[in-house]
Amino acid sequence: MSTFRFHALQKATDRTPVAVDDSERKSEIFGSNVFNDKSMRQFLTPEAYKAVKNAIENGIKIDRKIAEYIAMGMKEWALSKGVTHYTHWFQPLTGTTAEKHDAFFETSMDGSDPVEKFGGSQLVQQEPDASSFPNGGIRNTFEARGYTAWDPTSPAFIFGTTLCIPTVFISYTGEALDNKTPLLRALHAIDNAATDVAKYFDKNVKKVTPTLGWEQEYFLVDAALANSRPDILATGRTLLGHTSAKGQQLEDHYFGSIPTRVLQYMRDLEKECMLLGIPVKTRHNEVAPNQYELAPIFEETNLAVDHNSLLMDVMQKVAERHHFKVLFHEKPFKGVNGSGKHNNWSLATDTGINLLSPSKTPMSNLQFLTFFINTIKAVHDYEELMRASIASASNDHRLGANEAPPAIISVFIGQQLTNVLAELEGVSSGKLSPEEKTDLKLNVVGKLPDVLLDNTDRNRTSPFAFTGNKFEFRAVGSTANCAVSMTTLNTIVAKQLKDFKVEVDELIEKKDMKKDDAIFNVLREYIKQTKAILFEGDGYSEAWEKEAKKRGLSNHKTTPKALKAKVSKQAIALFGEMGVMDHVEVESRYEIELEEYTKKIQIEGRVLGDIARNHVIPTSIRYQNTLIENVKGLKEIFGKDFEKVAKEQIGLIKEISEHIEGINSNVEAMTEERKKANALNSSEKMADAYCEKVKPYFDIIRSHCDKLELLVDDEIWTLAKYRELLFVR
Ligand code: ADP
Ligand code: MG
Repeated sequence: MSTFRFHALQKATDRTPVAVDDSERKSEIFGSNVFNDKSMRQFLTPEAYKAVKNAIENGIKIDRKIAEYIAMGMKEWALSKGVTHYTHWFQPLTGTTAEKHDAFFETSMDGSDPVEKFGGSQLVQQEPDASSFPNGGIRNTFEARGYTAWDPTSPAFIFGTTLCIPTVFISYTGEALDNKTPLLRALHAIDNAATDVAKYFDKNVKKVTPTLGWEQEYFLVDAALANSRPDILATGRTLLGHTSAKGQQLEDHYFGSIPTRVLQYMRDLEKECMLLGIPVKTRHNEVAPNQYELAPIFEETNLAVDHNSLLMDVMQKVAERHHFKVLFHEKPFKGVNGSGKHNNWSLATDTGINLLSPSKTPMSNLQFLTFFINTIKAVHDYEELMRASIASASNDHRLGANEAPPAIISVFIGQQLTNVLAELEGVSSGKLSPEEKTDLKLNVVGKLPDVLLDNTDRNRTSPFAFTGNKFEFRAVGSTANCAVSMTTLNTIVAKQLKDFKVEVDELIEKKDMKKDDAIFNVLREYIKQTKAILFEGDGYSEAWEKEAKKRGLSNHKTTPKALKAKVSKQAIALFGEMGVMDHVEVESRYEIELEEYTKKIQIEGRVLGDIARNHVIPTSIRYQNTLIENVKGLKEIFGKDFEKVAKEQIGLIKEISEHIEGINSNVEAMTEERKKANALNSSEKMADAYCEKVKPYFDIIRSHCDKLELLVDDEIWTLAKYRELLFVR
């Protein structure tokens, strides 16, 4: 027992839960490391405070002089909390966050006058070296530099001893180089479009804010065990490993009692979240062993996205204290459930109304139906773009690979709302008669709150489901930056609402219709046009694949195929019209995502080849040699009769050789395919080749390795096994 695996197992088994002091009330510590309203009031002049509020609420630019005062207040607040450094905190197109710390500390040239300094210019704008971030060709064509600029709508926060200032990241020619910039533009677009439509129902609405409540799923694996697996370290998932005899089949983990070591981790994490103002609310075991979920109270989308990105970082850091590694990958283990990140989405007005929540009066329910049906129409018209917004190498393991949900985008609305839409579809064309209107108001629109009480999607297979007062985009991957899916969703709904308004106004002006007649008329047509996207059945079934094909819905099972929709004429026109991204930005993102796909598969291929040859084969040969020694010994004792007693061993020796041959020849063939793929001259062709030619070898190589795992003596196997990764905690 000399291997790293057994040292790791020993360490993991000897661990005890780490003590956590979370005795302080959550409500008391919430947001204490955030430059929030309370600290702004305390540290800013009234004028500076007003400027920040105005920027947050009305998007009004902060002038340079005021920024100077804000920086001063922010610095004083940070210093009072023992902070030494500051950083612009941003979300480049790597999918994670980036930071570069600078000390407040400064001296004059001769080293005299040491002081802590932080001025308006450091707050407002920085120039990180942009050359090492993905840019998809933008920087080859244009000016090479990029800069970060303060986003006052997401408050600065302290992590450790660093003041973090959320920023956008753009090139000097103005193209977005990050995930936040297009998101902010999309939020602006939907605010405009939705406010205009909401005004049909209430003139007082001045602002509509999209809300987001994400649910983060993850796995926790003991750090020592995770470190003993080169595949987990390099790719975030296991590339091989025979499934454990016990997996999730007993259904004994979901909502089960949380293991003590894990609970201590969660308590510690929740405390950090409270300090950072992340309003975490729910924690529980998920379906697979060692799989968990964390969900917050929903927030304004920009802040919710920042909080999710920050959380993923904090989760990993807190995990270190507890000797865990967090796996965010969508499919870290074969044979048990993978992880997703449901994006619960709705629209809130500044008058306090959730536009996707049915309420008490017929008029407000017509408002609900308006936003509800327009959302369905948007998803119907842009289903391929929605699919593209969640495409990644790791999410491919869920979508279209027999895991929730399928690669086909559809919308679940429940039986009762299906009935309501059927009734609305029957309203007459043109002006409605007074009787018809009364009937609609009394029997259809008026009854919504009652029928909606029990509107939950129980089969859970829908990628986009209405769940009572919000839509839930369930196909988003657990590693994803929510900004990407939220930019798409908010943009398509913005475009749809804008078109809706034009149609309704036209009926009012040209056909002399009353407002609600016009609305009913347009909605009726939408209901007729969007039936193909509505689906209530089992999304995993083959029958649905066939049916969806008949309906003309896309079913892109791999990232290279799914991504193409991002650069369709329709998509480029959409993002351009809504002011979210110009074609350069759209195309560069496509390029970056293709490259990222290729690199991920390339790394996985290399790591798999390495492990198969450097771990699996040598260990198997060692075991085979033991068997050979054994057979030789038997021959010595039994003479010519040895074959009878050594039959099993000889069989094993042959079997091991066959698998070794299987590994070697397939690793070689895979390497050849990689070479061919690398020589291709476009990122599209390269991603296709990695997907179609390289990736298929993964399963073949893995199956030889996994068979060997079952044959070889457990005591000399070097890689932590599934039962250890999944059940030691
Ligand atoms: P589940 O989907 O697991 O049944 P819930 O329905 O309670 O759980 O809600 C899940 C998430 O939905 C939570 O993160 C919550 O904050 C979020 N949520 C609830 N209402 C809204 C809303 N109006 N807008 C956005 N997110 C919401
Ligand atoms: Mg959910």
